[in-house]
Amino acid sequence: MSSSLVTVAYIGAIILFILSLGGLSNPETSRRGNLYGIIGMAIAVLATILGPRVVQAGLPWIIGAMVVGAAIGFYAARVVKMTQMPELVALMHSLVGLAAVLVGFASYIDTSTVLSGAEKIIHEVEVYVGILIGAVTFSGSLIAFGKLSGKIGGKPLMLPARHWLNLGILLVVIWYGREFIHAADTQAGMLPLLVMTVLALLFGIHMVMAIGGADMPVVVSMLNSYSGWAAAATGFMLSNDLLIVVGALVGSSGAILSYIMCNAMNRNFISVIAGGFGSGSGAPAAASGASAEPAGEVVPVSAQETAELLKEAKSVIIVPGYGMAVAQAQHTVFEITRHLREQGVKVRFGIHPVAGRMPGHMNVLLAEAKVPYDIVLEMEEINEDFGDTDVAMVIGANDIVNPAAQEDPASPIAGMPVLEVWHAKTSIVMKRSMASGYAGVDNPLFYKENNRMLFGDAKKMLDEVLVALKS
Ligand code: NDP
Repeated sequence: MSSSLVTVAYIGAIILFILSLGGLSNPETSRRGNLYGIIGMAIAVLATILGPRVVQAGLPWIIGAMVVGAAIGFYAARVVKMTQMPELVALMHSLVGLAAVLVGFASYIDTSTVLSGAEKIIHEVEVYVGILIGAVTFSGSLIAFGKLSGKIGGKPLMLPARHWLNLGILLVVIWYGREFIHAADTQAGMLPLLVMTVLALLFGIHMVMAIGGADMPVVVSMLNSYSGWAAAATGFMLSNDLLIVVGALVGSSGAILSYIMCNAMNRNFISVIAGGFGSGSGAPAAASGASAEPAGEVVPVSAQETAELLKEAKSVIIVPGYGMAVAQAQHTVFEITRHLREQGVKVRFGIHPVAGRMPGHMNVLLAEAKVPYDIVLEMEEINEDFGDTDVAMVIGANDIVNPAAQEDPASPIAGMPVLEVWHAKTSIVMKRSMASGYAGVDNPLFYKENNRMLFGDAKKMLDEVLVALKS
């Protein structure tokens, strides 16, 4: 394949990636968006391996590596549970970071092209910055993987003078960067490069360890953004325009998503990065599902009673959360929705931006169950309507419906906008126990007079509710 044909293929792939991002911004067009992305990536990979920069003798190695990689990816995609998606995504981000580090070292050691003057300095800056971003992404994503999978506690690690520590690391990295660029040869430059890599790895660990459980949504999207910049840096090192553009697209869309998530949680981006959120004494280790102290009486109801309440209702708002994903209850939710709508009940869904464990988690599940898009509303579109609603049915959600965010300024989630289900005539919370949610804080909603608790696995309880509704 000639280099001009490769350029044309790259432009086509870039257009498809932009269309893909546009498509993914809306549930109705997301499947098409995904397809554009797949076609764009196939074109990009083919154009790269058939292009003039790949030595033909190396092709069997590349194809062998691709077969192994595709087999691992295929297997992982088949066995991963919906609830493990965020961990898988974090793990994939770490691989992008690792690739940037490895490409950085390879392109520094590579002696096939001799550069001099400004070109040499530019290349060395690309290598240094690329490895720096890659190493932070790699170790930060591994810690995020540990936190999301519950292998590492969600409580923020608060080292004394941690901001000074970070500043110190930054200054040392800059100083070694100077040493690296002034190094006489590759051998002399290796030490500063290695020291910076170790520091960057430590910084990535420290940065994510300092972020509390409740801020993890921002961390996931932030690391997504970093992985994009790491890919763009790799593109600079390899002089590959496609990788630069795609990396920049991922980097900037991840940054925009982080901003949206911060807004959704009423958090300042800098304070998220600075860490410490969720460190209040009332916040036990997140993701552990630890029970908070009981703070009042709750009124339990049966599936039969829940069905009665739903039968009498004229309007219902369903608020799904992480527990719906765990229980895989979305299909029964759809059946209940269909049945109620057939009976003339107005049913809508209220989706919190950080519900579940990854951006768009609930939308994906509801789309999979074929819930019509027009009754799935964002938090700000529906929050005003709870006052005119007969039943608000909370399915495996906790933090996103916690009134403490508004009522208790000392709460670790104070200020986070939440779905105000308690304004409905009756709210029903479906969960297995009194355990806290991801942020590890008690939920005063459970003790409100108009709230009922339907204890049990969401799928099992909803199946019973559906039977009772139809009887
Ligand atoms: P929460 O984690 O606050 O609550 C989920 C609830 O579901 C738990 O309290 C649990 O209670 C219940 N549950 C678990 N399994 C089942 C089951 N099988 N059947 C019924 N209930 C079940 O989830 P929310 O969706 O309300 O809030 C999301 C939280 O996750 C926020 O704190 C957010 O910051 C955080 N987060 C979000 C990310 C994102 O990108 N969206 C990423 C990382 C974190 P019980 O054990 O009693 O059943």
